[in-house]
Amino acid sequence: MNRREFVKRLALGGAFLAGYQYLTPFEKLYAKTALHNSISGKMKNWAWVTVDLKPSIDEWKRRFALWHESGIDAILLEIYTSNYAFYKSAHLPVKEQWLELLLPIAKQEGLEVHSWMWTMLCNNEDIVKNHPEWFVVNYKGESAANKPSYVNYYKFLCSSRPEVRNFIRQTVTELANFDMLDGVHLDYIRFPDVILAEALQPKYGIKQDKEYPEYDYCYCDLCRSEFQKKTGIDIMKVEDPTSNKEWRQFRYDRISSLVNDVLVPAAHKKNKIVTAAVFPNWEMVRQQWPAWNVDGVLPMLYNGFYNKGIDWIKTQTLKGTASLSGRIPLYSGLFVPQLNPNELAKAIECSIEGNAQGVSLFSAQSMSAKHWTLFKEIVRS
Ligand SMILES: [Zn+2]
Repeated sequence: MNRREFVKRLALGGAFLAGYQYLTPFEKLYAKTALHNSISGKMKNWAWVTVDLKPSIDEWKRRFALWHESGIDAILLEIYTSNYAFYKSAHLPVKEQWLELLLPIAKQEGLEVHSWMWTMLCNNEDIVKNHPEWFVVNYKGESAANKPSYVNYYKFLCSSRPEVRNFIRQTVTELANFDMLDGVHLDYIRFPDVILAEALQPKYGIKQDKEYPEYDYCYCDLCRSEFQKKTGIDIMKVEDPTSNKEWRQFRYDRISSLVNDVLVPAAHKKNKIVTAAVFPNWEMVRQQWPAWNVDGVLPMLYNGFYNKGIDWIKTQTLKGTASLSGRIPLYSGLFVPQLNPNELAKAIECSIEGNAQGVSLFSAQSMSAKHWTLFKEIVRS
């Protein structure tokens, strides 16, 4: 029996506490993972795979084999980027049939495959030009179609519009029709950030100490009239709309209803599972995911974006899993470009201690050989 095996038996045999102090930090993590896997079922680990048309099929085969062998169970292939589809779509401009190419190979290598789509963002020029009324409007009356906040691509659709709901449902339905596909992954399923993550604010030369009108959405005609119909309140006559609780909840419900009433049923109809990339501080993007009927959530616990240490991942994972009360699994999303291999190990430990059912790496392509070696040692314990 090698020392690793000994550590594992120590953990599973209940002698964990007695021997714990004699273990190296890495062995402690190894023991914790073994214990976690034995109590809550095997970890399920994910990786986002950003669209990349350059590698050959053989190169993808090699990568998929390595990722699976290293402990990745499911990949999220980026196949819709708010302008182009990377699969054969009947209603979106198609760049390449990338999904069709990679899906069978990834499945052959034993990976689950989920199609990762940008949901509320829309940079399709035809739609921007012909349907500007589909886009969200801020409190100053500016539309994201021609005056998006922060960056030019922040053209968010308004989920109150029946045409928008149909448009997004069509994409989900097209994806759900892929027999071999395991699920649909919703990204950007939210409003624009009313307050950006702390570390990102200086990049845009802004300081957001409260909710400012130019980043506060959606005040389009339809949202305002629907809200008035429901509550009797004309939000434009309220002195400080940001402090109105009903208005806040109304906007959370816009996205929740799109998810629960439209997108999840469209995917479930074809037996596909639905996951979503979500914010830990979801209030800032009006994304009340604890209320969603999805099959799993992948909160993006990118500590560097919030000027926080790695321990913050544990706090946020605990908060997230508590908010779900075990109803659906949570997989902690980890931002690899800001984590060296040892920090990644620490981030995985924090996720396990926060009761996550696994982790999701952003992105598979950001992992170095060293990252993979260490990752495998930890999650395969
Ligand atoms: Zn609206």
